[in-house]
Amino acid sequence: AKEAGRNRYQFYSADMTARAIERLGLEHDLRGAVERAEMFLVYQPQIELATEGIIGAEVLMRWRHPEHGLISPCRFIPVAEDTGLILTLGEWALRESCRQAQSWRERGLLEACISVNVSAVQFRQTDFIDVVKRALKESGLLPGCLELELTESVVMQGVEPTLAKLRELDALGVKVAIDDFGTGYSSLSYLRQFTVDRLKIDRSFVRDLPGNIDAEAIASAIVAMGLNLGLRIIAEGVETQAQAEFLQSVFCKEGQGYLYAWPMDADEFETWVKAWQS
Ligand code: C2E
Ligand code: CA
Ligand code: CA
Ligand code: CA
Repeated sequence: AKEAGRNRYQFYSADMTARAIERLGLEHDLRGAVERAEMFLVYQPQIELATEGIIGAEVLMRWRHPEHGLISPCRFIPVAEDTGLILTLGEWALRESCRQAQSWRERGLLEACISVNVSAVQFRQTDFIDVVKRALKESGLLPGCLELELTESVVMQGVEPTLAKLRELDALGVKVAIDDFGTGYSSLSYLRQFTVDRLKIDRSFVRDLPGNIDAEAIASAIVAMGLNLGLRIIAEGVETQAQAEFLQSVFCKEGQGYLYAWPMDADEFETWVKAWQS
């Protein structure tokens, strides 16, 4: 037993070292990744469940590493946040998303909004609103065609700079969605003081629908209370027809997930949209 314990310890510490080294490597490689054109954006359609019409698209970041290939944002976003590199990456993603959305609008391909993920680190910057304004101005995209996805923890801090920024976005006409909703500790009544437009029910609740009583109760409670507050509700991670049907039965009208489409690069997205609409 002692022997096994020692081996386990050695394995564990070697693993930790490997991870620390990997992280340093990622951090190093992430610098300049935008300039080297290693980053790109993918787009996942958002669907009106009843009609299966396209009502939006979420923009997700991808990193094609020259040696390691595609690296998941779950791995590089935390590194980017810790190092502040998220500011450059996030601004690039916002500007590129607005440019792409406006180009699709001008060509009559997509009327719908695009939803861009914004990290807490980015949102907390004092010049965040200026960054948004600049992206809109240089692209010519109407503010109402842009939605920002903020996580529950960012919004629910409820501190004055946050509230002021949410009010400014509202005044601009930019939409705000609360991402991963249900995973934080917020009370829904608290939501009333925020000028948000939409809630995204986290995938962890959608995954166990239908059949899991707890997941069903949570999903339907979020929808009912959200609707009462006048918010739109979208479910993320919709993978099956049964999930889509359950969501509709509790009056959730919007969904996003592999049942409809994977996130696609801009060219694939265009092709998908044309095929979906014909
Ligand atoms: P998220 O914002 O919750 O994004 C949803 C994630 O679910 C995406 O993973 C998407 O590809 C995945 N997904 C979509 N449909 C399904 C489905 O039906 N089933 C399952 N199992 N998964 C589905 P992805 O692209 O790997 O992104 C992971 C996370 O990384 C995002 O979670 C977000 O927190 C972060 N992220 C991605 N792009 C950006 C970005 O541009 N900026 C920031 N700040 N964060 C980003
Ligand atoms: Ca999101
Ligand atoms: Ca989400
Ligand atoms: Ca999520």
